[in-house]
Amino acid sequence: MGGMIESLKSETLALLKTLGVPESAVTGGTLAARSAITGEVLTQLRSDDRAAADGAVKKAQAAFLEWRGVPAPKRGELIRLLGEELRANKDALGRLVSIEVGKIVSEGLGEVQEMIDICDFAVGLSRQLTGLTIATERTDHRMMETWHPLGVTLIISAFNFPVAVWSWNAALALVAGNSIIWKPSEKSSLTALATQALFEKALGRYRAAGGIAPENLSQLLIGERDLGEALVDNPAVALVSATGSTAMGRQVGPRVAARFGRSILELGGNNAAIVGPSADLDLTLRGVAFSAMGTAGQRCTSLRRLFVHESVYDALVPRLIKAYGSVKVGNPLETGTLVGPLIDKGAYDRMQSALTAAKAEGGKVHGGDKVEIASAGDSTYVRPAIVEMPKQSGPMVDETFAPILYVTKYSDFDAVLALHNDVPQGLSSSIFTNDMREAETFISARGSDCGIANVNIGPSGAEIGGAFGGEKETGGGRESGSDAWKGYMRRATNTLNYGRTLPLAQGVKFDV
Ligand code: NAD
Repeated sequence: MGGMIESLKSETLALLKTLGVPESAVTGGTLAARSAITGEVLTQLRSDDRAAADGAVKKAQAAFLEWRGVPAPKRGELIRLLGEELRANKDALGRLVSIEVGKIVSEGLGEVQEMIDICDFAVGLSRQLTGLTIATERTDHRMMETWHPLGVTLIISAFNFPVAVWSWNAALALVAGNSIIWKPSEKSSLTALATQALFEKALGRYRAAGGIAPENLSQLLIGERDLGEALVDNPAVALVSATGSTAMGRQVGPRVAARFGRSILELGGNNAAIVGPSADLDLTLRGVAFSAMGTAGQRCTSLRRLFVHESVYDALVPRLIKAYGSVKVGNPLETGTLVGPLIDKGAYDRMQSALTAAKAEGGKVHGGDKVEIASAGDSTYVRPAIVEMPKQSGPMVDETFAPILYVTKYSDFDAVLALHNDVPQGLSSSIFTNDMREAETFISARGSDCGIANVNIGPSGAEIGGAFGGEKETGGGRESGSDAWKGYMRRATNTLNYGRTLPLAQGVKFDV
């Protein structure tokens, strides 16, 4: 199973060079940058410390004060150039994503495409940061609301979307007039360095064409959790946009709130799909397979729970089990591979504990075993697991960041809707059905309680045009499209009196 894997060190160093990362940035230091494909240490990086964090925030604050004065459509021009750099370097950056975190080639490229898409969106947005004019009860008055830049924006990102999450935040924050600091996952520092280098290239072109932009508009700090904490606690950081586990959000959310900062939290999901009696089972099979096994189950929107109506269970589930057994697991750089490695050994251990716990709950496990690949070194490959569960219990109500799909049979639609919502997380969800009543109910107020609710497509693979995020322990934040930009700006309500009298609201009299 799976071929030989060559060392990826020299290719990585060449890619970093192509993408404009100076050699000095990837030599020396003690933070190991690894490839999920082979587990090998690709290079050692220097970490930034608390003093660097404090210094970066000061510099970012100075940059903000200048950048907020640059007209928004001009700020958009910088993002247009960033999009151009990403287009020109899509193959190299996509490949680096695959090497560092183990995504299959099309998903590595897809992640960069998502960055390009949000840049395009943000460029248009830079001319559409509109406010309202609101009816006022007072004669000869006008009331309106305007949106202003907010301040220093800290972006904390997770390993599994090592560059796209930055771009969702960075493109909007920069167009909104904010300066940014990025603390990427310690498991994906190399793609972060490459992305920052592409940003610097875009900035150079923007300035060469006469664009005004301050120094330190976008800074990258490399390090682990303690670096994130130092940045989160800094009162000069106006907005913390943090993507990662619910455990991380539980730490970050209250700390930011304690100093009355603003946060956007994009945390864990435990996404489900319901398969109704009328579902198109061929389409369902493909939708489920991609959502549950894609990215080796390491998407925040990965499908983790499947509720199948008893009338179609036997027509669907054996086919799914077969697909799970035959899907190609292995080197993600190889054509035909659909499931690459887990990020590290810890992920494998957590997957095995969840499977053991599922068995204890009466679950019947198919797959989930290690896949041996020649010269894969320290990396970990697994066959995705399907677990037929007698009921929703045990590990099924938690997010295990690995390819496990729990499947249960249902008979009553209202009861399955209740079960669907009976988990702490609320990110993404789907229903497969051709019954209009079921579909409409699922996306109605009494349907799915998630931030994303789909019909006849799986829960993963969102487009950037919609607002992205979820409820409950997923954190409540929204990023990307729709009006998510408002989260990066501050709102001011303005009332103007163009008359000669001073009528007070609510008929209050105050004659002096
Ligand atoms: P993680 O929580 O381990 O780390 C995420 C980031 O937070 C890293 O940069 C880490 O260094 C930092 N961090 C951790 N603790 C911190 C603290 N106390 N203060 C400041 N920073 C801290 O997550 P991970 O393993 O990299 O990613 C997987 C998780 O991310 C999953 O739970 C997944 O569902 C979630 N995720 C959510 C979304 C979303 O949009 N909702 C998107 C991607 C990933």
